[in-house]
Amino acid sequence: MSGRFFRRAQAGTIVRKLCAKAVLERKLIAEGDRVLIAASGGKDSTVLAWALAGLRPAIRQNYELAALHISSDFCACCKKTILSERMEEWGIPFSDLFVPVIGRLKEGEKMNCYWCSTQRRTELLRYAMEKGFNKIALGHHLDDILETFFMNMTGRGELSAMPVVLKYRKYPVSLIRPLAYLEERQIIDCAAEQNILKAACTCPYGLNSKRRDIRKRIADFTGNSGAVKRRMLKALSSGPVDLLEEG
Ligand code: SF4
Repeated sequence: MSGRFFRRAQAGTIVRKLCAKAVLERKLIAEGDRVLIAASGGKDSTVLAWALAGLRPAIRQNYELAALHISSDFCACCKKTILSERMEEWGIPFSDLFVPVIGRLKEGEKMNCYWCSTQRRTELLRYAMEKGFNKIALGHHLDDILETFFMNMTGRGELSAMPVVLKYRKYPVSLIRPLAYLEERQIIDCAAEQNILKAACTCPYGLNSKRRDIRKRIADFTGNSGAVKRRMLKALSSGPVDLLEEG
């Protein structure tokens, strides 16, 4: 049996195990939490929904799950139907919301990822608060967190990254990243094993060569070892990554 086949054959188990570890160690979910999953339709957030749907026995907490998909005026999403079917299969109520991301630009302003994610985040927060959710679960993984850290450091001269948990001072909602201990390749294997749609982001604004370059450098630096990357996250968690409160 090849190593790759063996990894795939237990990919779902690995994802749920590392997800449970992150949830328990970082206290991401507590008894009675109402958790809204930001479901983009891509592999990361769909695997996140699958993992959280089966995690209750492992973390011994009772929590409620729901998923929200945000579609926009530049991304004609054809994944909504299949996404809602999978969520239903996993017992997760599904809703979708249209946000005119480009339509909100003022004259002369240009579309970019920062604008897009700010608009989406604002709507996610608004929706969560209106519907009484106290946690928003995002599908960012270990590679996303490390890449963002290095991009912020080398590009903006800032020591900042995506926190595993972010508590807002102003709002009664926290952001959590339960896939923070998982590498992207483990999520890809799980998506293949669980027959989860593997749609890659085809957004024309998302072609970021800097991120690709940083990804390659991190792979060289860590020898692409998950254990080394998790130790890097642990080191960062004593400082810039665990920025626990915001605005
Ligand atoms: S890649 Fe596209 S969808 Fe993703 S944040 Fe950037 S603009 Fe938005």
